Amino acid sequence: MVSRTKKRASLHTLGCRLNQSETLLIKQRLKADGYEIVPFGEPADLGIINTCTVTNLADSKCRQSIRQFTRQNPDAYTAVIGCYSQMGSKEIAAIEGVDLIIGNQEKMSVVDYIGQEKNEKPVIVREKISQDDFSISYFGDAPFNQRANLKIQDGCSFVCSFCIIPFARGASRSRELGNILLEAEAKANQGVRELVITGVNIGTYRMEEADLLRVLEGLNAVKGIDRIRISSIEPTTIPTELFHWMNDPQHALLPFFHIPLQAGNDKVLREMRRRYTISEYLEFLHLAHESVDSLYLGTDIMVGFPGETEEEFQDTCSVFLENPFNFCHVFSFSEREGTVAAKRDDQVPLEERQCRSAYLRRLSSKKRYDFYGAYLGTTMRVLFEDPKPDFWPAYTDNYIRVVVPRDAMNGEDLANRCAEVRLNRIAADFVEGEIVRMLD
Ligand code: SF4
Repeated sequence: MVSRTKKRASLHTLGCRLNQSETLLIKQRLKADGYEIVPFGEPADLGIINTCTVTNLADSKCRQSIRQFTRQNPDAYTAVIGCYSQMGSKEIAAIEGVDLIIGNQEKMSVVDYIGQEKNEKPVIVREKISQDDFSISYFGDAPFNQRANLKIQDGCSFVCSFCIIPFARGASRSRELGNILLEAEAKANQGVRELVITGVNIGTYRMEEADLLRVLEGLNAVKGIDRIRISSIEPTTIPTELFHWMNDPQHALLPFFHIPLQAGNDKVLREMRRRYTISEYLEFLHLAHESVDSLYLGTDIMVGFPGETEEEFQDTCSVFLENPFNFCHVFSFSEREGTVAAKRDDQVPLEERQCRSAYLRRLSSKKRYDFYGAYLGTTMRVLFEDPKPDFWPAYTDNYIRVVVPRDAMNGEDLANRCAEVRLNRIAADFVEGEIVRMLD
């Protein structure tokens, strides 16, 4: 029998920002219930693993994390929640030591399901995912610095042919606007200065009369929130009104877009069931690049989609290289059971996918290096995060990773403060800078 008097809980998140935002809310709830939160890897009485199922590799990493926890904590109560729980509950149930498996519908209530004793067999809670819009009832009040993900939407109704997310998270639905603003105010009171707007397909946000613009307008008015960053947003769903706000120094919206391209060839895009052609995508990209000062443009690209030829892959590389992208997240296609693309008989061999992926990653590093290089010698605003042993990390408004060496700061505390920083030198995947002046 497990004694939960010590109440040490350890949480681990795999996958996207949405998962991170959900784990944070669960953590807040556990703190309010008297748990001490300990880092994953330290002994705990309760483990909650929030999982991802976007690729086969993600599934395997989830299984590894679950095994790591149950091996290190054989007596702890172990709960596995999220997308992999929704889609792969049988595989998770086969892992020794798991007590509870909860899919996406009930996962935010995981704390209510946690038992006093370990179960002989895992309890599986895998309800049908509701199509209704939603609110979140608990935000917590523990101090939390700097940047926080804020969930405004869940699910996706686009159903791209390779993607498991519409099955794992259900159809698109939006969070009640007043409830979003309440959490934003709570986060600002906890010390958060930057919100990252998060969801599966945030451009499709609709709640009665409200759309994404209305959400951003509301968040911009929240006292204490100095920066708003939109996370990944689908092409065809982005209102051009955002350009104006990104250029306005009085508006908190930052000059940052991450717009998944997936492929740079119309045939592949069509087979992926994406909702745009290359020329439509690029027309928007150039408009954004020309309209917004110092804009960061990132993207997602998938390589090795079934039937993708070497020429089609090279088309994608050319589109990425020849247009104003600054970085791409590269994903190798992964057969997800139940999707249209997984059934095709012209799968690209795994080694070829890996090869293409490595090649594109090299192009992406070069693009990022050039982007960083273009700002050397300039002065940019940053928000500092918690310190590392040797340096203070921060991001500029347009997402350049900056570090300021601690020994240059005479012990001054920079955490959660804004400053103007001159960018001096590119080192690996960040830029070393020096403070020109503190802004607060
Ligand atoms: S837009 Fe496409 S890739 Fe993105 S979550 Fe929806 S179905 Fe998946």
